[in-house]
Amino acid sequence: TSAIHAIGEAGISLNSVTKRYGESTVVDEIDLVIEPGEFMTFLGPSGSGKTTTLNMIAGFTSVTEGLLHIYGKPVAKLPPHKRDIGMVFQNYALFPHKTVAENIAYPLQRRKLSKAVQKEKVAAALGMVRMGDFGDRYPSELSGGQQQRVALARALVYEPRVLLMDEPLGALDKKLREWLQTEIKRIHREVGSTFVYVTHDQEEALSMSDRIAVFNNGKIEQVGTSEDLYEAPQTLFVGRFLGESTVLLGTGVPVGERHTAIEVAGHRVVA
Ligand code: ADP
Repeated sequence: TSAIHAIGEAGISLNSVTKRYGESTVVDEIDLVIEPGEFMTFLGPSGSGKTTTLNMIAGFTSVTEGLLHIYGKPVAKLPPHKRDIGMVFQNYALFPHKTVAENIAYPLQRRKLSKAVQKEKVAAALGMVRMGDFGDRYPSELSGGQQQRVALARALVYEPRVLLMDEPLGALDKKLREWLQTEIKRIHREVGSTFVYVTHDQEEALSMSDRIAVFNNGKIEQVGTSEDLYEAPQTLFVGRFLGESTVLLGTGVPVGERHTAIEVAGHRVVA
């Protein structure tokens, strides 16, 4: 009964979730509980199953086996628009022939809200992403970072309980990325929804997340806070993968004249 209890209390829960394409298992019996309002990041190398897992939560791809619940509700058979989720991808996917305000209003039109309510919600969403003056512009008139903020506003406008983001800052340069990371964290605090964020960038994961799920080869190696993963990596993979970004944060240990090893929690992870 404790597993059932966890499903009821969780923002998102995956119980032994598997995805197969023909003979190949790309997500392999994953168990994960994401708390309501948590900022959870899926971190791992390319091809480790992060996007496939996110797409199963979104409903863009089916679950082969296992149980998937969003706020206590079994969603495996529900289409994406009935799952109470918003989604932001790397390529902003705005409608080029619609203005910023029309782009953001689009999900509201589909829900048949009155024009007055739509206008109010669009203004609030634009304010949330600090784009209040840009409602009448077209996407082609905006920078990449501005377009991504509009995409974020569009995903948030109907106040979904879950926001799913797949490498949303991947196409942007480093400075803009760092600034938008701060903005996304602020927005997370303000809206209080459950955020799930996919990245292969360790530093991005470490700076943004409440907890991180480290993916490798279709499995989750470890789930924990940044501190947990650094101080007590439970597998060699986690130590090594995070080790790549610990050159500045870890403890440098001289091991001869030319080399420095990096130790994390007493384990040598980079030699
Ligand atoms: P990540 O997001 O960690 O980069 P993905 O979830 O995109 O990983 O992919 C995991 C594995 O699943 C990869 O080996 C990929 O080639 C495979 N895969 C993804 N989509 C399909 C598909 N539609 N058909 C077959 N294999 C797929």
